[in-house]
Amino acid sequence: MLRESVVIARRLHIGGVVQGVGFRPFVFRLAREFHIRGWVYNGERGVEIHAEGDAGALEAFARAIGERPPPAARIASIESTASQVEDFAEFEIRASEKQAGPTVRISPDLPVCDACLRELFDPHDRRFQYPYINCTDCGPRYSIILGLPYDRPNTTMRDWPMCEDCSAEYHDPGNRRFHAQPLACAVCGPNVRLQVAGSVRYRATEAMQQAARLLRDGSIVAVKGLGGYHLACDARNARAVAALRERKYRKERPFAVMARDLEAARECVVLDADAIALLGSIRRPIVLAEARFELAGIAPDNRELGIMLAYTPLQHLLYAFGAPELLVMTSANRSSEPIAYTDTDALDRLDGIADAFVIGEREIARRVDDSVARVAPAGMSVLRHSRGFAPEAVATLPTKHPILAVGADLKNAVTLVVSGEAFSSQHIGDLEHFSAFEAFRATIADMCAMYEVRMEDVLIVHDAHPEYASTLHALTLPGKHVAVQHHRAHVASVLAERAQWDEPVIGVAFDGTGYGDDGSIWGGEIFTGSVRAGFRRAAHLRIAALPGGDAAARFPVQAAAGFLEQIDELPDLTAAPFAFPAARYRGASELARKRVRTFPTSSIGRLFDTVAALLGFTRESTFEGQAAMWVEHLARSSGPVAAYSFPVRNAELDFRPLLAAIVRDRIRGRSVDEIAAAFHAAIADAICQACDTLEPRHVVVSGGVFQNTLLLELLAARIGDRLWTNTVVPANDGGISLGQAAIAALTVS
Ligand SMILES: [Zn+2]
Ligand SMILES: [Zn+2]
Repeated sequence: MLRESVVIARRLHIGGVVQGVGFRPFVFRLAREFHIRGWVYNGERGVEIHAEGDAGALEAFARAIGERPPPAARIASIESTASQVEDFAEFEIRASEKQAGPTVRISPDLPVCDACLRELFDPHDRRFQYPYINCTDCGPRYSIILGLPYDRPNTTMRDWPMCEDCSAEYHDPGNRRFHAQPLACAVCGPNVRLQVAGSVRYRATEAMQQAARLLRDGSIVAVKGLGGYHLACDARNARAVAALRERKYRKERPFAVMARDLEAARECVVLDADAIALLGSIRRPIVLAEARFELAGIAPDNRELGIMLAYTPLQHLLYAFGAPELLVMTSANRSSEPIAYTDTDALDRLDGIADAFVIGEREIARRVDDSVARVAPAGMSVLRHSRGFAPEAVATLPTKHPILAVGADLKNAVTLVVSGEAFSSQHIGDLEHFSAFEAFRATIADMCAMYEVRMEDVLIVHDAHPEYASTLHALTLPGKHVAVQHHRAHVASVLAERAQWDEPVIGVAFDGTGYGDDGSIWGGEIFTGSVRAGFRRAAHLRIAALPGGDAAARFPVQAAAGFLEQIDELPDLTAAPFAFPAARYRGASELARKRVRTFPTSSIGRLFDTVAALLGFTRESTFEGQAAMWVEHLARSSGPVAAYSFPVRNAELDFRPLLAAIVRDRIRGRSVDEIAAAFHAAIADAICQACDTLEPRHVVVSGGVFQNTLLLELLAARIGDRLWTNTVVPANDGGISLGQAAIAALTVS
C-alpha cells in the first residue's frame, strides 16, 4: 500500500573550504540522486542549502554531503536547522546573493585530477596535451587569486576570455567544469613557450617536447610551476647536478627530486602506506623518506631524500615527452632567496643558471613554494608549510579580535587571525635576505587585503627579539603591539593545533636560537604552565659560552670551543682523532676565555653542533641544521645503545658528563655511530628526567630540534600518548607565528 510521505524542509550551512572546489554542482547532483528540491548558493560564511523532501531522503542527503564531498573540499562544519516548506518543483544552483565575505576560506592550489589527466592524454579530447587543463576538482587557486570573491575577473585568468566551448562547460551545472574559474583550452587560454638564449624558439607542444629533450641531454631548464619557477635537471646526471649546485651557489643543501610516478618514487626511497598516502595526497608535498641508494650530489651525507610526484599537467607532459623519470626540482632562486615567480624576475635572476626557460603564459599572483613533510612517529610532520597547505586555517582561536603574528626571522611565515580562524601564510624564507623581507611585507599586505582586515584594528604580535627584522617591521605597523618570547611561542603552537588553552603541560622547546627573557640566547628550555596561565621556565640546558654569537651557528667547532671550555682535562682537540681546524678553534677558545664577543647560551642546537664537531663535522655548515642532521644520520646507522649520563640537577640539564664521556669514547676509538646514538638517547633521557621531577602531564615538544625523527621515536617509546608535538604547522620557526597568535589571543584582552 502506498503511504504518502510527508515533505519537510531543512536549511544546511556548510563551513570550511567549500567555495571554488565544485561544491555547488556536487550538491546539485546529490539533490537529484535523493530527489531533493530547493536551492544552493555561496553565502558569506560558506555554502547555504535549502532542501525539501521526505525525512529519510533529507537525512541521507545531508549525510552524503558530509561523507563524500568533492576531493578539494574541506568541510569544517555542517549546521542543520528546520525550515518552512516552500514547495519547490526542482533543485537549482542560485547565483551568489551576497558577496563572499572575508571568512570564506580560500582553497590551496590543487594537483591535476585523474579525470583531467585522462583527457590530457586522450587524442580525441579537445584538451589533448593542453598544459593548463583543470576543473573544479583540480588546478590553481591561491596562486592565481587577485581578490575575493573567487571569480574569474579576480584571478590572473581575467585576461583570457573563454571560447564558446569553455563557456558552455562553465555554465552547465551538470559539467565537471561548472564555475571552474581557471577553465581554459588551447583555443582560448594560455600556453607555454620555450626560450633559449633570450629568444622564444618554440610554443605549445613543441616547446614541451624540446624542453624534455634538453632535460634528457643534461641541460638545466627553468620550468614555471603553480607558485613559482623550478630549476629542473636529470637527477641521475651527476654532471648536470654538479653544474646546478655550482651555478646556484648551493653547496650541500639537499635538492628535492620529482618522480614521474609512484613506481619511480618507490625505486629510490622506502615508502610505507602512510608515506605513499602523503606523497599522493591532494597537498602533494615533497616527502622526506629514507633513500634506497645515493644519487650523486642530490643529498650529501643524508639518509633521507625529498621526493614528490608530478602535480601540474605541464610536469606530466614533460614526462610523457621523454623527460628523465627522476628530475631535480628545486626552487628557482640563487642561494636561499625567495623563489622567482614572475617571468621577468625568473629571466633576470636565473640568467646564467638555467640553459632554457619553459615560460607559462598564465600569471602567478603570489609565490607559493613546494611544501615539505614527512611521516613521523607522532603523525605527519610538516617542515615547510606552503603549496597545498596555505592559506588554510591551521587552528581556531578563542578570540574575536583580529590578530597578525609576524613570526621569527628564520623560516618566516605569518599568521592572520580573523573571526578566530588562524590562517598561516605560505613559507616566506629568511628575512636577512632583502628580497625575503620584501616578500614578508607583501604577504602581510596581501593577507590583510584578502581578508578585509584594517591594519588599525589588528593586534600585532612579534618575537621578543628587539633586533629581528620582523620585530622592527611590526613596530612600524599601526595598532597595539605585543611581544611573545620565542620558545613559549613554539610550545603554544602545538597547543593551538589541539585547541588546548587551559591544560597544564610540560613544554619542551629545543632549537638553535631564540631571544630569552634575560636577553641571552635560549634554545634548551623546559616550561610548565598553560597557554592561558602562561609558561614558567622550569629547567634549561646548562649555560655555555658562545663565542661569536649567532655566527657560531655556522661553525660547529666554534660552538664546541664554548661548550668544551667547561670540561676538565681536555686533550688537544686539534690533534687526532678530533683534528679541529687549529686557527678557528683556538681563536674561538680565546674569545670564550676572555669573554670577548661571547654570549651565554642554553641552546641544544649548539650542543648538537658541539657533538657534531667532536664526531668529525669540523667544516662550515652550509645550511641551518646541517650538523645536527649529520649527527642524526650517524646515529641511525647504530644499533640500540645505552644513553650517556645527562643529569638534570637544580633545574639544569648538565652537559658536562655527557661531553666528557664523548671525548673519552672518541679517544678510545668507539664508533662515531654508537656515540651519536648514545647522545640521542641521552637527550631523550634528560627530557624524561626533567618530566619526572615535574607533575605528570602531557609533554609538549617543539622547536627545530624536534624535526629529528630519531629523537621523537625515542621519546614516543617512553612517553607514549602523553607526547604532543606539531602535526599541522612546522616544529621549526615556520610554526612560531601560530604560537605567537595563540598566546596573544589568550592573554591580551
Ligand atoms: Zn581536474
Ligand atoms: Zn576554450
